[in-house]
Parts: sequence; C-alpha cells; structure tokens
Amino acid sequence: MVIGGCVECLICTTKFILRVGVGLENACTHTFDCPHCFSALTVVAKADVPLSTHIEFTENCRAIDGERVGPVVNLHPSIAFSADEYHDQLTFPSIVLTKLTRPYMRAPAESRLKDVATQFELPYTKELWSVVANIIRMNLRGNAHDVLNGQIAKYVEMRRKFLPDFTCTTVFKCVASFFDDGFYPAIGNLRQPLRKLIQELRKNHPIQMATFETYYRSDLESENLERYIALFQDYFANFDQFRQLLAFTRVGSDDVDELIVGSKNFNDIKMFYGQAYETLTSSFVTLACLNNIKNGRRFDEFEHMTLNKYIKDVEKAKKSNPFSGDPVLFAFASSEDSALRNGSHHASIFRYGELVKYRSGGTGAQREIAYSRYIHMCNQIAITNAALMLVELQEFSTFIHR
Ligand SMILES: [Zn+2]
Repeated sequence: MVIGGCVECLICTTKFILRVGVGLENACTHTFDCPHCFSALTVVAKADVPLSTHIEFTENCRAIDGERVGPVVNLHPSIAFSADEYHDQLTFPSIVLTKLTRPYMRAPAESRLKDVATQFELPYTKELWSVVANIIRMNLRGNAHDVLNGQIAKYVEMRRKFLPDFTCTTVFKCVASFFDDGFYPAIGNLRQPLRKLIQELRKNHPIQMATFETYYRSDLESENLERYIALFQDYFANFDQFRQLLAFTRVGSDDVDELIVGSKNFNDIKMFYGQAYETLTSSFVTLACLNNIKNGRRFDEFEHMTLNKYIKDVEKAKKSNPFSGDPVLFAFASSEDSALRNGSHHASIFRYGELVKYRSGGTGAQREIAYSRYIHMCNQIAITNAALMLVELQEFSTFIHR
C-alpha cells in the first residue's frame, strides 16, 4: 500500500509529492533530503493495516492541501529505488520487491500469492528482536526458568501470527529461527558449509576439537556473545535504514551502486560498519583455531606464531590471513574492508547526497562509495556476524544447554 500527499519543506517552502510504501510494521521512520534545499526532513508512517494508515510529520515538513504538484519523492521501508523510480509518481516498489524475492520464498507455491510481504520478510522484526535479545540475556545471566519460558512463549505467539504451525521450545531455536528467517538465503550460504567443516574436523581430529571446545567455553564464549548482542542491538535499532537494501543483500544481488535509498539517517549508522568489523574480526580467532586443526596442528599452534601472539599482536586487517587458503573459512572475510572500517570506526566518514566519503588509515587517501553500497556492506557484515554467532552457539557453546 502506498500513502502520501502534498508536503511542504518548512526550511525552504518547496512543495512536493510524497509517496510512502507501508508494510506490516506499526511505525516506520523515514528521514530524507528535501528535493530542493536538501535539509533533513522526517516523517513517520504509522499503520494498523488494513484498518488505518497515516503519516506523522515530525521534522522540518508538514502536510498541505491542494493540487498534487512539484517533484515526487518515493519512500519504502524494504526496498531501494532506481534513479527513475525514485521520482516516479507511478512506481510501485512492492512489485520490484516481489520480483526480487519470489525465487527465494520458502512458502509453498500455492500460498505465495496470498501475502507476499510475510513470506520473505520477517514481520515485526524489531519487536521480535527485542524478545530474542531478552531471551539471550536472560539465558546468559541464568534467569529463573519461568521468566525465560514466558519470553520463549511470547516469541512463539508472535511468530504464529504469520506462521500458524511455528513451534519452538528451546533458547537456541528462538535465536536461530529469528536470524535464519530474517537473513536467509545469505546466512545459510555461510553457516551450512562451516558446520559441515566442523563435523568433518570432529571426525578426523576429535581430541584437538574437544580441547578447542573447552578453550572456547572458558575464554571466548561470553565475550563473543556480549559483542554480538551489542552489535545486533544497534543493527535492529536502525533497522529502518538497513532494511531498504536487505532484500538485495539477502539474495546476493550485488548490483546496488545505482540504487537510491529513500530514507537516510546516516548519523545514526555511520559507525555501524566499524563496530561490525571489530566484532567480526574479534571472532576470527575461532576460525583461525579451526584452520590450525584442519592442518593437523594443535588448535593454538599457528604456522608461524602462537595463539597468544595472534590475539595480541596481529592487527585486525590481517586476522583472516592464516585461513585465507580455506574457502569455507575465508568466506567469512569477504565482507571485510579495512579502509572503510578505519573511516567508520573513527567517525571520519561523511555523506554527500548519494555518496559516502571516508578517509582510510595509512595514507589517509579519500575514498568514496555509493550510499546504497555502504548500507549493503553493513547488511553483509551483519549477516556474516549472525552466521558465525549461530555456528558458535550451535557447535561450541554451553549456551543452549543451560
Ligand atoms: Zn527544503
């Protein structure tokens, strides 16, 4: 459904036509540039579909009566636009979204036509995350089982609104179903090959794998989990930003540079890539240890150094070097960009219209990428973190047994 009307920018008095796609979420915030003076304008699309929908004008703009004249601005919570579509009065982004995601839908073909929006996207993602985050935290801190079970029941109830047969009784299944349904098929392309590799290592090197698992639980598990939770807290707090490119990222469509993301609140997400890079490279120790075992060594014995040296002395940008020869492990490094990490981590990164400019470390040379590329890369590295987190939880953690 598309809602909207005539709007006036309160900074420059330019009038334009706003069209906002409304999905299932109760409220979706859009911050976008005035088509004339480029000031940041904010609206919130509120929906209680199909009962009522309306737009609240919260920053620098207001609704006006009268003829629909002036340029068109399209906004949509779950898709970015081509340059032509962005200013087209007849664009229906949900058709583009359906075309992109239809081949990947899990629902049986006969029910695909019923409600496409609930079959690829995870309805109420932000609200679900807040329950999943409670479940992870409660489990980590050993909360009373009745409270934890109440949260699991709440998660199941929310999922059943759109999947009546959904069942889930364990903490791990809550976490796994949330990330898997929200990030498939991309997450599975990383997660499944790694699980297969781990199962082979268990068969061929059982003693070394058991020693590594003990080390993982005593030295890595709790810090890794805390980092993942903090990262996804930020990701889902800004989900309205990332979601606009997420369908492209999930299906592996890398052709995003020409796309226009309608809603841009860069200030809230400019440091996200840096944080996600730190989280991911901190977890590379798991992959590096698996690589040692695969090569017939002790888990903490590298080709040219000790585990202690790897953790303390190897810089983040080189953490993936030891396992660069293994395609399954190295796939987790494919969303790494250390120059972008430097810009994002040190907040030395800026948006100019449809471009993001940043300074890399080292020479400090200025680089630029499309704004849509930045969002796409944030999604890629978030999915990579989620894949590694799920494998750690499922294969090594004591988390699911508590
Ligand atoms: Zn303006």
